Amino acid sequence: MKLYKITKSNIDKKGRGLYATQNIKEGTRIIDYIGKIITKKQTEESQKFDNAKPIYLFNLNKKYDMDGDVSWNTARLINHSCSNNCDYNGTGLKLWVIAIKDIKKGEEITADYGFGYDEDYKQFPCKCRSKNCCGYIVRAESRWRINKKFSINRQQLSK
Ligand SMILES: [Zn+2]
Repeated sequence: MKLYKITKSNIDKKGRGLYATQNIKEGTRIIDYIGKIITKKQTEESQKFDNAKPIYLFNLNKKYDMDGDVSWNTARLINHSCSNNCDYNGTGLKLWVIAIKDIKKGEEITADYGFGYDEDYKQFPCKCRSKNCCGYIVRAESRWRINKKFSINRQQLSK
């Protein structure tokens, strides 16, 4: 039995998300993140990643990226949350999604899309509504830059 099902998302009201169909233990590999393997040169030359779609692009190594914006990649439906319960993991040219905390049946499976502050973060408002939400889809280490609520993290980082 699959650990997830596709259904209407609470985070992305217009879209879908993945939901746990059973309790999932921390460390469990939930789904592979698949797509087209493209060279950095192809990424640079593609209009596709200029603005709207960087969220599906993964850096694999110095030479290759993974374009996850393909219909057969179910993991692309995973939404971002500032209190994510999953993370992306991988080795070589393979990527997958792993639980970073225990997930209860019925919870939405979420990840941190991990944009750096340098990207034009205002294009990507976050609607995860978690206590940790900084309002935009920006990776945890950079959230203090856009929301005072995270200034404690900055002190921790500068140590
Ligand atoms: Zn959020």
